[in-house]
Amino acid sequence: MNFVEERILKEGTVKAGNVLKVDSFLNHQIDVTFLDAMAREFKRRFDGRTITKVLTIETSGIAIACSVAREFGVPVVFAKKSKSVNLDGESYVAEVESYTHKKTNQVIVSKKYISEEDHVLIVDDFLANGCALQGLISIVDAAGAEVVGCGIVIEKGFQEGGHRIRNLGFRLESLAIIDSMDAETGAVTFREQNT
Ligand code: 5GP
Repeated sequence: MNFVEERILKEGTVKAGNVLKVDSFLNHQIDVTFLDAMAREFKRRFDGRTITKVLTIETSGIAIACSVAREFGVPVVFAKKSKSVNLDGESYVAEVESYTHKKTNQVIVSKKYISEEDHVLIVDDFLANGCALQGLISIVDAAGAEVVGCGIVIEKGFQEGGHRIRNLGFRLESLAIIDSMDAETGAVTFREQNT
């Protein structure tokens, strides 16, 4: 069992609706030393690849993305959620359905911050159905930049996002992949990974 899986077992709580709460170290209170350890693991997994930007989506991806970006020595760009998008041609726009809030947001990234020269590592805290990742991938595509891969802290492997993204041919590295979780018993099981 790796250090991310251990922390999930120790502090994560399973809620109804297939939601895992990790508020004590990732999503509300943040253990920065732990973030940095996860960032080093992403650096190890994507070592040797050219990466010029780390891209995430607000809000909960920003902290881990900052730590990953420091490892690679590159800037972070986060897609902003926006109620009214001003389609002035200055931004890339994608529609993303929020897994936890069940509503669709338009997310935008200014054209100033991703260009066709960029090699982008996309990072987020969770992967469920893959809407957030697909939205971010479409923004990188629209910019004519390269998606080097996707780094996820916690993939819920029993939901379809992981299959979708891997089937599209993208490299997806998840620090923990949950195979099952049960809101009644609190039990969480992980997929074995050879990394
Ligand atoms: P997806 O777009 O893959 O369906 O969902 C991913 C997004 O929803 C992530 O950005 C994350 O913020 C949120 N999310 C999905 N599942 C969970 C979960 O079980 N717990 C928490 N805290 N956030 C989740």
